[in-house]
Amino acid sequence: MPRINVLPEEVRNYISCGEVIESPYSVVKELVENALDAGADRIEVRALDAGLSFISVTDNGTGMAFEDLPLALEPFATSKIKQKDDISSVKSMGFRGEALASVCNVSALKMFSSTGGDGGMIYREGGRDIDHRKFSCPKGTTVEVRKLFFNAPVRKRFLKSPKYMNGEILRVVREYALSRPEVVFSLRIDDKNYFENFSPSDDEKERVRKIFGFENGDYAELVKPLMGLRCFAFPDDYKSSRRWQFLFVNRRPITNAAFLKAAENAFEGYLPRGKHPPLFIYLTAAGGIIDVNVHPAKREIRFQSPRAFYQMVYEVLRKKYSKNKPAVYPPAADLPPAGGFFTIPDQISSPSDMQDKGFVSVSSAPSDSEKKHPSGVSEKAPLFSPSAANVHWDSFRYVGKSHAKFLIFSTPAALHIMDFHAAAERINYEKINKIMKNGKVTSQKLLVPLKVRLSPEELDALKENVSSTEKLGLTLECSRRSVFVKALPAGFSGNEKQMLEEISACLIEGKKNDDVAGELFDGAVKSIACHMSFRAGDDLKRHDAEALINELKECSEPLRCPHGRPVMFTIPVARMDSVLRR
Ligand code: ADP
Ligand code: MG
Repeated sequence: MPRINVLPEEVRNYISCGEVIESPYSVVKELVENALDAGADRIEVRALDAGLSFISVTDNGTGMAFEDLPLALEPFATSKIKQKDDISSVKSMGFRGEALASVCNVSALKMFSSTGGDGGMIYREGGRDIDHRKFSCPKGTTVEVRKLFFNAPVRKRFLKSPKYMNGEILRVVREYALSRPEVVFSLRIDDKNYFENFSPSDDEKERVRKIFGFENGDYAELVKPLMGLRCFAFPDDYKSSRRWQFLFVNRRPITNAAFLKAAENAFEGYLPRGKHPPLFIYLTAAGGIIDVNVHPAKREIRFQSPRAFYQMVYEVLRKKYSKNKPAVYPPAADLPPAGGFFTIPDQISSPSDMQDKGFVSVSSAPSDSEKKHPSGVSEKAPLFSPSAANVHWDSFRYVGKSHAKFLIFSTPAALHIMDFHAAAERINYEKINKIMKNGKVTSQKLLVPLKVRLSPEELDALKENVSSTEKLGLTLECSRRSVFVKALPAGFSGNEKQMLEEISACLIEGKKNDDVAGELFDGAVKSIACHMSFRAGDDLKRHDAEALINELKECSEPLRCPHGRPVMFTIPVARMDSVLRR
């Protein structure tokens, strides 16, 4: 058995700094957090060569006294907590007292600081003292980090590409710029400047606009003594990735995939599959119900009752997005407000209350659309165009078709571009559901049964659901390896194999998930509706277009296809006038 060694301090420091300083962005993150904790309202970040040759962060915060500079670089030296109990109520971003020590162990670090009078500077390389002297500088602190990882060749070898690391730096500063809109950040990476238009009077919404350009969003809030939620959502600017989703707990940016998933679930049926709404979720939680000391870089937080939080965000958003809303060419400024910001009634009184109930429920109190938000964000709806209720179907005039997939209509107030496949899907879906309530979908017999090969699992799923598939207008006969289709729903025009695969996939899923509510069987109905509908390339005539309008008019949710895609894109005349300067 080899002997056990107590590692020398140098090795210990090297190991622990690996947890905190993973890549150049970690240095930026720790320095920015220190600047925020020092109460700065201006923070300048610079990086060269992806942060490997130079990073500096300058702030106008409280600064440090000359004598405190060496202490700040010691491990576990902090001014933010004194004893263990302080951790549970900590308001500052830092409290572990190890960031500066970790950074200076793997770099050449210079720090200049002043509390207003004479200041000082300190210089260490790889943790070794090089210099500490009086130095005159303005109130605040500048930390300069050079030669990052010069003494950590392994770490250097595992770094990502410079482009990736620059992206990480941008992301981390952006997160703080979103969580602290009152702080003016500037960022320069090599010769590129970011965030030049920030102002101290920005609020979160304005920051989101300045950083990402998202303008027309919805806002929700729930504020209680022990926990709260504020959320900006931009579903009409949906994206194919989750990169536009941010979560903050007590103004600390954190990652929590389960939480964001819960939030996204609320958009089911509202957004096309695989699309993600930009989301900016700001949670507040009283010290006792979260634990921030679970991750060295504090990127994760433990919730005492995570489900209550997940459920809160789901319910809040679901209330809004299960409703039928159209996708419309944005600038809301041109449009009359169509809805209201929504507020969430008081339901949660204490965390134990939440735990008792298991969930947080939200009642359907009317929204208070004129209320002013404390951050100054007006709660007056910047919503999108007409809801289904105020589309004037009778005034639709057919103009023509375009690109083999769109129909164009005009009404006195707007031009409407309709995706005719989505429209037909919606109509067929509602028709089938209506028919299935009392009977079965009419089927058309095939002269020669059609043989489709499916996997044993798919065949089993179909066999076990013969009566349901019969109701859908399908007559199927299963052999050992194939299914013979003897009749199809009348009007079926799609690919039989694909439809059978889709239906059996829904049935298999339904079985796995104990589909009592029949939600997954609904997937089968959607699949049939899809395969009965016009497709891109079909040659629709004027009477087909007019029939679509007449039938959509009767639908309960005419503006979304059953999978959640928008049926129509609307450009108000006012918008056309303004773009074309009429
Ligand atoms: P922590 O932030 O967890 O306390 P750090 O190693 O990041 O630990 O910093 C150690 C201490 O140095 C802080 O507690 C703070 O007192 C001081 N300090 C660090 N950066 C700054 C700054 N930019 N302005 C003022 N004080 C700072
Ligand atoms: Mg710190």
